Amino acid sequence: MNSMDGLQKILICSDLDRTIIPNGYQEESAHARPVFRQIAEHANIHLTYVSGRDKQLIIDAIEEFYLPLPDYAIGDVGTTFYRIINGNWQLSDEWSDEISQDWQGLNWEGLAEYFEDMKDVRLQELEKQSPHKLSFYTDQDVDQPHLKEKIRLVLMQRDLRANIIWSVDEISSRGLLDIIPARANKLHAIQFLMKQEQFFDDKTVFAGDSGNDLDVLTSGLRAILVKNAADEVRKEAVEKLSAKHMMHRLYFPEGNYCGMNGNYAAGVIEGLVHFFPETKKLVADAMEQVKGSR
Ligand SMILES: [Mg+2]
Repeated sequence: MNSMDGLQKILICSDLDRTIIPNGYQEESAHARPVFRQIAEHANIHLTYVSGRDKQLIIDAIEEFYLPLPDYAIGDVGTTFYRIINGNWQLSDEWSDEISQDWQGLNWEGLAEYFEDMKDVRLQELEKQSPHKLSFYTDQDVDQPHLKEKIRLVLMQRDLRANIIWSVDEISSRGLLDIIPARANKLHAIQFLMKQEQFFDDKTVFAGDSGNDLDVLTSGLRAILVKNAADEVRKEAVEKLSAKHMMHRLYFPEGNYCGMNGNYAAGVIEGLVHFFPETKKLVADAMEQVKGSR
């Protein structure tokens, strides 16, 4: 499993939900995840999960969906960066320090104090907070632009730079509002990881499926938009990349590769071989092995 086959080190960064995890409504090809697991075992294939999930929810997903253990994980919408060494998750202080500059060194608790009197927001449970992610509940029908403006004002007065992300939890019919440091995002975290761990541009690929992956998908980094992605995401990605004359940096899996359909892990594998033809044999061998073990 060393580099006797001449494969130079490659970094695969992948979103989880509906990219590697087949939890959308489209079908997953039966061989896709087993082959992906096999590929990830190669000593020179380095895997990073990039997710909105926190560490525990990433671990839950790995167990529930039998995903390969990654080498790195970027979690909590880009606010945490872990190195996973012998199964130990080590939080990177360098990344925490980097993003905490936007908050003048404050963590979520320090920041929360400035919002104690704000009526429209309620603190989420302790386990939903992370050092550089302050999470609130709101009513589902809250005047969202107005609320964001009020929050922005508080932040501005303290000279804090942050992104405010609002979404609806359809199951509980509540609004979810996250405040994170301005520079804590998936793209910046991946670039930080590449620099820290010396992965090169031409040996790095990102895979995603949805709107919150668009920054990375259209950054000019080699990227894969899995086939199960929504049409609007595809359209927006094409618009942004065409404007930059960088369409060649984004790959749209077509399916029919090794008999797989291009959704989820199958799309990631197809894109991997597209950008790095030198992995073709690795994929073929993995497929052989998976089929043989059935
Ligand atoms: Mg996703």
